[in-house]
Amino acid sequence: MKKVVKFGGSSLASAEQFMKAGDIIRADESRRYVVPSAPGKRTSDDTKVTDMLLHVYDTAAAGGDIDGEMKAIKARYDEIITGLGLKDFSLDADIEEIAKKLKAEPEKDYAASRGEFLNGKIMAKYLDAEFIDAAEVIFFNEEGNLNDYKTDKTLSARLEKCDKAVIPGFYGLGKNGRIKTFSRGGSDVTGSIVAKAAKADVYENWTDVSGFLMADPRIVSNPKGIRYITYRELRELSYMGASVLHEDAIFPVRRCGIPINIRNTNMPEDEGTWIVESTAQKTDYVVTGIAGKKDFCTVFVTKAMMNAEIGFGRKVLQAFEENGISFEHMPSGIDTMTIVVHADEFMHKEQKVISAIHRLAEPDSVEIESGLALIAVVGRGMKSASGTAGKLFTALAKQGINIRMIDQGSSELNIIIGVKNSDFETAIKAIYATFIGE
Ligand code: ASP
Repeated sequence: MKKVVKFGGSSLASAEQFMKAGDIIRADESRRYVVPSAPGKRTSDDTKVTDMLLHVYDTAAAGGDIDGEMKAIKARYDEIITGLGLKDFSLDADIEEIAKKLKAEPEKDYAASRGEFLNGKIMAKYLDAEFIDAAEVIFFNEEGNLNDYKTDKTLSARLEKCDKAVIPGFYGLGKNGRIKTFSRGGSDVTGSIVAKAAKADVYENWTDVSGFLMADPRIVSNPKGIRYITYRELRELSYMGASVLHEDAIFPVRRCGIPINIRNTNMPEDEGTWIVESTAQKTDYVVTGIAGKKDFCTVFVTKAMMNAEIGFGRKVLQAFEENGISFEHMPSGIDTMTIVVHADEFMHKEQKVISAIHRLAEPDSVEIESGLALIAVVGRGMKSASGTAGKLFTALAKQGINIRMIDQGSSELNIIIGVKNSDFETAIKAIYATFIGE
């Protein structure tokens, strides 16, 4: 059995948190490869080390003095080193070198990546494991995308040689020998890449929540946790804003069938959520999760005999494409078409889009409405259950909520409904109560 364990920033924000992570790693021999994030927030008004480093970069790029800021960063690490009681260990030389480099030639990705680099060094010392610099084993191509072939080959050969190793998250080597990072939250991606290269049995992702919840706890009080979720269900829910894991973290492990187990460093006894390719595990509920987002706009286009006009849909969509707007949904009728878009992308271009629709498709009318919220009800159990849509609509009707749009995914994995922004919270509560209980 081989496990790759990734710890998020809040799990490594202080010596106390580090010790919890250490206990978790030591409790299971198979937890052999560790991917740390940079120290995160210790309290809600604290600053993540990655943000401190990005600020240092801004200061350096503007020709300012970075000594004070670097001192504050050093203090964060020194606090951890002292708290862990690490003897004969210091990051002073590394921090000095980072400061020197940033003064001579400020580079944003290099600056941002040092949080993980330094934390990885502490973790390796603390665990008495080998430190593998991610820049030696994770590679990006010229276009800035992960070079999976070279990465997998180099990394798996390297891991084969070590029993226990720490590989800092979030970065690798980009073009011209420069450090490149993933997008924010990217240590999740590193964890997934390492799990694939190690041919791990599980990719454990340790964070500060016990996995995914069936609904947003800011709306539903005390929602139940999700035990098993498939990659496809997760994609549907994260599209609607349920975020615990970086989206790109799914691809490397999914392809080789490695499950991801989201766990809580502060409550290691909780089983967390298992993200799997496919499962025969019985769900207690037809619905796996409910998520949603506010502030969509609809563009309602009508034209008599639309159904017979070849290319009509393409012309309407071209109007959006020309203006660089992606659409989210497109329910249609016989002579009508509705295009659902994000308000923030659309609002400042609305008149341009409307005139383009008129120019390209010559419709009878185009109407815009704003203030739409979308709610996705997701569950692999929906395929085999009858009456799900009926139950859903009854729940909303009882609350007097008018459904403005319905879109059942062809996979029968989800139903997406559109309601007024102001009905959003009430609708989610009602759906939760109907399918899961009070
Ligand atoms: N430290 C990086 C960030 O704050 C990456 C990570 O934590 O995953 O985005």
